[in-house]
Amino acid sequence: MFTLIELPYAPEALAPAISAETLSFHHGKHLQTYVNNLNAALPGSPWEGKSLEEIVKGAEGGILNNAGQTLNHNHYFTQFRAPRADNAPAGSLAAAIDRDFGGFDAFKQEFAAKGAGLFGSGWVWLSADADGKLVITQEPNAGNPVRKGLKPLLTFDVWEHAYYIDYRNRRPDHLKALWDIIDWDVVQARYE
Ligand code: MN
Repeated sequence: MFTLIELPYAPEALAPAISAETLSFHHGKHLQTYVNNLNAALPGSPWEGKSLEEIVKGAEGGILNNAGQTLNHNHYFTQFRAPRADNAPAGSLAAAIDRDFGGFDAFKQEFAAKGAGLFGSGWVWLSADADGKLVITQEPNAGNPVRKGLKPLLTFDVWEHAYYIDYRNRRPDHLKALWDIIDWDVVQARYE
């Protein structure tokens, strides 16, 4: 049985990038439904008792979709903190971003463009490959880079349910606001 993760901040802490109302639906309704559907589908399947990541790496169909969405949202909701000005990575992650994208601003531009340009529902991810090189991938629907052997570091959810209450159709504006609330300490810890 999988359980709904707890949010590591107050519901209103991420505004205006993500409002308390959006969190109540996105975490309390959408993610809860993925967790419930996964728990309902697992008994008697080959994936019963496996870890979320093992399921996402190997499953197909409805179990993959609900496990993928559970894993994706667990990454997503735990990478935020209250907004701060000049929010930026430090340490080895900042050095790798400079090396692989030509600077933090260039990275943000490419990442946001790939999020804005993903047709339909899905996720844009920053991941590390086996050599520590950073890559940005667009993953449709419930996709997660662990299926490609990558280590996921950071993700923006571009499903409409992630922003429609606060930003209506303005996906690029929502993605731009997310840079203020990234907890780079969490992302750095995932990278190490
Ligand atoms: Mn979502």
